[in-house]
Amino acid sequence: MKRFEALSQSDNRAVINMEESEKRSHLFAKNVFNDEKMLQFLTTEAYKKVQAAIFSGNKIDRKIADQVAEGMKAWALAMGATHYTHWFQPLTGATAEKHDAFFDLMEDGRALEKFGGRQLVQQEPDASSFPSGGIRNTFEARGYTAWDPTSPAFVYKTTLCIPTIFVSYTGEALDNKAPLLRALHAVDQAATDVAQYFDKTVRKVHATLGWEQEYFLIDKALAESRPDILMTGRTLVGNAAAKGQQLDDHYFGVIPSRVLSFMSALEKQCMVLGIPVKTRHNEVAPNQFELAPVFEEANLSVDHNLLLMDVMDEIADKHGFKVLFHEKPFAGINGSGKHNNWSLATDTGVNLLSPGSTPMKNLQFLTFFINTIKGVDTYEELLRSSIASASNDHRLGANEAPPAILSIFVGKQLSDVLDELEGVSKGKLSPEEKTELKLNVVGKIPEILLDNTDRNRTSPFAFTGNKFEMRGVGSKMNCAKPMTVLNTIVAKQLTDFKKEVDALIDKKSLKKDEAVFNVLREYIKTSKRIRFDGDGYSKDWENEAKKRKLSNNKNTPDALKVLTSKDSLALFATTNVMNGKELVAHQEVELDNYVFHIQIEGRILKELVYNYIIPAAIKYQNLLLENVAGLKEVYGAAHKKITEPQLNILEKIGEHLVAIKKLADRMNEAREKADRLVDIDKKAKEYCDTIQPYFEDIRGNADVLEQLVSDELWPLAKYRELLFVK
Ligand code: ADP
Ligand code: MG
Repeated sequence: MKRFEALSQSDNRAVINMEESEKRSHLFAKNVFNDEKMLQFLTTEAYKKVQAAIFSGNKIDRKIADQVAEGMKAWALAMGATHYTHWFQPLTGATAEKHDAFFDLMEDGRALEKFGGRQLVQQEPDASSFPSGGIRNTFEARGYTAWDPTSPAFVYKTTLCIPTIFVSYTGEALDNKAPLLRALHAVDQAATDVAQYFDKTVRKVHATLGWEQEYFLIDKALAESRPDILMTGRTLVGNAAAKGQQLDDHYFGVIPSRVLSFMSALEKQCMVLGIPVKTRHNEVAPNQFELAPVFEEANLSVDHNLLLMDVMDEIADKHGFKVLFHEKPFAGINGSGKHNNWSLATDTGVNLLSPGSTPMKNLQFLTFFINTIKGVDTYEELLRSSIASASNDHRLGANEAPPAILSIFVGKQLSDVLDELEGVSKGKLSPEEKTELKLNVVGKIPEILLDNTDRNRTSPFAFTGNKFEMRGVGSKMNCAKPMTVLNTIVAKQLTDFKKEVDALIDKKSLKKDEAVFNVLREYIKTSKRIRFDGDGYSKDWENEAKKRKLSNNKNTPDALKVLTSKDSLALFATTNVMNGKELVAHQEVELDNYVFHIQIEGRILKELVYNYIIPAAIKYQNLLLENVAGLKEVYGAAHKKITEPQLNILEKIGEHLVAIKKLADRMNEAREKADRLVDIDKKAKEYCDTIQPYFEDIRGNADVLEQLVSDELWPLAKYRELLFVK
């Protein structure tokens, strides 16, 4: 049986020895066409143009593109690359690439390595198979990828990878990156304008992102022995291991040597690719781990996270592991997330969400801090929608932190400051009040809040000293989605703020800081409902949140509705992040993905029931029957006393067999019915409300059968085997 072959393979794995020969700092960004290499390989003119494009989003003309391509090619060939690819982020969530060889033949038959500005700037991938939510069908048949100079090209294995956006010929985003870049541009403009109230020299603000990636590692052979893990990334059935996470001995425990060796290889590869990974540790659940980098500019950080996931898959494979990025691979055990730490930083080196050493710096901090709170309050439901997916529903919609209700945790100290500011007088402030504010409110915010803010671990959106941490993001997800929404919201909010402050200065002749205090005071009052410091997943909070009119969308079809609401359409239009066409299309793709996901799970579950579980149970039944028949032959009428346990087990197995088959059949019928629906909203709803609920019931019966059937006959690797790698 496959399970036992896999177990023996897993038992006999050797640890691949990882020698740390080179200092990590020497390896860093070796394979990245970064500033240092650009200086070396580009003409001064091309170098300056690329820098300008990175700073202000200027277009790069063909002549310069040719020069850049020339330099990039020379460097890549020296690095041993033979191919190049436009690397992009289709709406499926993963990354895609199409490799072309540098090698080309001239007309006279001579061979050369060719790569010019045209190949660098734009490509037409055969993209008909990427989801586009009807954009391409309706408006334009083809899409193209276009170079994103703000994320540096890199060599991975023997391929030069060029980060690109993927858009239709009419300019609509067919990917996750184009909207992200637009959102980052919007927040740059809005935040720069506001930052200039406090420092005239600020010319650019960039959003920063530091993700924390959680994942499970399981033995590759065992993973491959189970169709559910292989096809859906999670276990659809499986009885909880006797030793689960109750013992909590895994958290910050010793990392097993096989895992350590994997991590070491992974970190080395990350270094070479310029992904600044830093911390690693065990997570709460057995075999669960976390990896976090030093934060970076958000676009680059998003690219790095996607690249990391690809690299992890590959290195895990070499080390005999399979990485599970799924948000809930095992029932009854903590799921995985990807916390997104976010802030705004100026080109003058200031973190706008970091309290400062002077009252003025703190007023700047409070401005960005309160505006973020206000923006999230206004668009809480939209922000929730940005982290909706079939797999993440198992965390957000279920009994696991963080909950589907968005709220913000700011900690006691800052709550007190906000309460004080709520009492600021309307209009002009007296000199006494100004002094009081400076000395005792704004001036009292300690520079370092890190220690006393990060207590609440269940809050979905927490202020952690010098950044906000968005904790509902799924472990499998592309961070571009939540980052697009968050930065768009903040951009809109800061733009509104500036208008209001300017109006008070111009029309009511208030001083700048008076105007700022006045507007912030109102924001604190009107955004109160979003602030919550308590237990994020209690029933009380659910009731309380309802009173506060906060949304509580527990599943993806419900959560996605808001994407095309009037307010959302207006938000994305005024910030130039997405037009109505794109929003409708992206929503449709998300719903398609949702259906597709559960559809596959449903198919696999039926296969497990029919081809694995039922046959195993019948085999065991036969064994028992044979035994009972034998005993009857020997003991005659007296057999009843000794065959009672067998008969009892037989009966129980029979009951669960009847139930599980019936449920599987019903689920299948429901699925066939749903598949005939054309309307994607209805279809998604049907999958959510009618089909998904069968999963739990089927699983319940399967897990009892696992307990009843002889271990020798059970075909699916068990939780204890999957979860405790040696
Ligand atoms: P914890 O697990 O306690 O939340 P970690 O140290 O694991 O803390 O994670 C902190 C994350 O926050 C790191 O990825 C770090 O790079 C990131 N981070 C720190 N400062 C900023 C910032 N200004 N902007 C964005 N991310 C940040
Ligand atoms: Mg964290």
